[in-house]
Amino acid sequence: MTSDAILNLLFAAADDVGRTFDHRDLAEWPAGSHRVFLKLGILRQSAGGLMASCPSCDDGHVELVSQRPGPDGEPRLYIYCPEQLRLEVSAEMCRGWEVDLDGLATLLNSAMELKGKPKPLIPNRLWRLGRIPWEGNTREVMLATRLGDPDGASVAAPVGVGGRAIVLVPRQVPDDRVWPGRVPAVVALERVAELDDDRFVIDGVALMEAVAEADAVALERGEIPQEQLAAKKVRQQVDKAIKSMLSNEALVQEYRIRGSYRKAADALVAAGYRTNRYAVERAVKTAGGPDAVKQGADSNSVIRTVASQPRDRSKNFSQRR
Ligand SMILES: [Zn+2]
Repeated sequence: MTSDAILNLLFAAADDVGRTFDHRDLAEWPAGSHRVFLKLGILRQSAGGLMASCPSCDDGHVELVSQRPGPDGEPRLYIYCPEQLRLEVSAEMCRGWEVDLDGLATLLNSAMELKGKPKPLIPNRLWRLGRIPWEGNTREVMLATRLGDPDGASVAAPVGVGGRAIVLVPRQVPDDRVWPGRVPAVVALERVAELDDDRFVIDGVALMEAVAEADAVALERGEIPQEQLAAKKVRQQVDKAIKSMLSNEALVQEYRIRGSYRKAADALVAAGYRTNRYAVERAVKTAGGPDAVKQGADSNSVIRTVASQPRDRSKNFSQRR
């Protein structure tokens, strides 16, 4: 196995519960890689080191270690084995190793040169890693583990509904339904992390691609980025829509019917449009003034007014404000 393969193995363990590596596993790792992972801080000795796997059986069954005096009277370590009954194990064999998730968060924070320190939000499940510059703005980067577990939604909840966050997961990309709102860009570390000699690196280009891909999928789903939904933009859009509905011609038309700026405006407002007498006056003056407008009316055999055909859509717009 290569060191990168071991790294992926560690990511798989990070997305699992109680995965430890023992002396048998370590024997298959490339020479020195155990030390490298310890130094990087993503591997640590597991707290429960009183188990050992059988060095004799092929299935490597794991047993509780007991201490008894050996033939020479000195304490020795033993495990129970169905075939050998009692088997001596070395202290080294009793040691287990596990992924240090807080160490992984710290490592990611420094590898990505994120601003701020990583902060655990839910122990062993969710960390705020810091912010990364992104297209003239910044985006929050988070680390989450085991999002596919039954309680995944409660882990995903603090990520928020905006869909702007970049959520790193060790390996498992969860179902979109785990997210409370817009689906953030979820990137599996397996895809972007690697070892460069003894250094842990995040492939920046691969990360950008993965995030852009996730953003594109979100856009396809019709999820508009949060910033475009800012109140100001909505208001501008609504104003534009209303403006287009009440064209100058519509205001002038209403004035022809009602005969005064005030009456025309009142009729339009009553019909659900947003306008006032000054808007009507401006429109009439733009059209050449009251006399020209009234002459124009004479040439129209049928006069239809905007206010006589209130539209629900326009009401919705004004009510939303
Ligand atoms: Zn055995």
